[in-house]
Amino acid sequence: MGHRQFDLITLGTGAALPARGRYPTSQLLIVHGATYLIDCGEGTQERLRALGANFMRIGHIFISHLHGDHYLGLMGLISSMHLMGRTGALHVHGPKPLKEIIDVQLRASQTYLRYPLHWHALEPENGCVAWRDQRVTVTLLALKHRIPCTGFIFEESAAPRPLRVEALALIPAPMRNRIKAGEDLLLPEGGVISNAELTHDPPRPRRYAYCSDTAYALNSFLSFAEWICSITRLLSPQLWHHVPRRRFIPPLSKPRL
Ligand SMILES: [Zn+2]
Repeated sequence: MGHRQFDLITLGTGAALPARGRYPTSQLLIVHGATYLIDCGEGTQERLRALGANFMRIGHIFISHLHGDHYLGLMGLISSMHLMGRTGALHVHGPKPLKEIIDVQLRASQTYLRYPLHWHALEPENGCVAWRDQRVTVTLLALKHRIPCTGFIFEESAAPRPLRVEALALIPAPMRNRIKAGEDLLLPEGGVISNAELTHDPPRPRRYAYCSDTAYALNSFLSFAEWICSITRLLSPQLWHHVPRRRFIPPLSKPRL
C-alpha cells in the first residue's frame, strides 16, 4: 500500500531446540518502506535470504531478551552485513549485556565493522518510548519471564489529514501541507477556517504488539484481565500476537521488500 505500507513477515516461530521445517524466533516489520527486525534467532539471515529481503534495508533490530532462540542469529547477521559492504548505520535495541556479547566476538575475530553500530540498552519498562522516527514510535512492555524480557508496540506515525474536495479551492497550494498537518487556515482578510472544515480524519494509525516469552503476572505488572484489555485497547482493531510454538505460517501475499 505504497508509502503507507505496514506488513509483518514471520521469519521464525520455533523455540530453543532445532525443529524440522521452522526456525527460531524472528519477525520482519515493514513500515512505510522502512524495515525493522524483531528478534534474531539462529538462521534468521537464511530466512531473509530465502525471502529475497535486502539485509541492508534493516535499519533497526529489536531483541526482546537473551535466551538463545531470540538472539543467536544476531552475530551472523551483523557479520554478513559487514562482509556485504554495508556502510549505513545499524541500530540494535536490546538488553544491556548484548553489546558485550557481540563486542567480544568482534574483538576475537579482529573484525572492524565497516558501518556504524549503535547500541540502545533496553530495560523492560511499561510505556517507555524506546524509539521514534518519521515512521514509527516503539513503546515497551514489561514481560514476565525468567530473565529480563521486553515486548514492543510499534505504532505507525499519523497519516496526513486528507483535504475535503469542497475546500480545495479555498486553500492556496503552498498551504496544503500545513493544512494536512492539522493547521487552521488564516485568511488574508483576517478570518480563520478551522482545520475540521478543511480536512477529514485520517485512518487510525496501525499498531503491532510483539509479546514474546511471558507468563501471567498478577503482582508484577497488571492483572491478566487488565493486561488483555489494555493490549486490546491499544491494538484494536488489529490484534496480533506472537505464538512461539505454532508452525511457520507463510504471509498471505509477499510484501514489497
Ligand atoms: Zn525466553
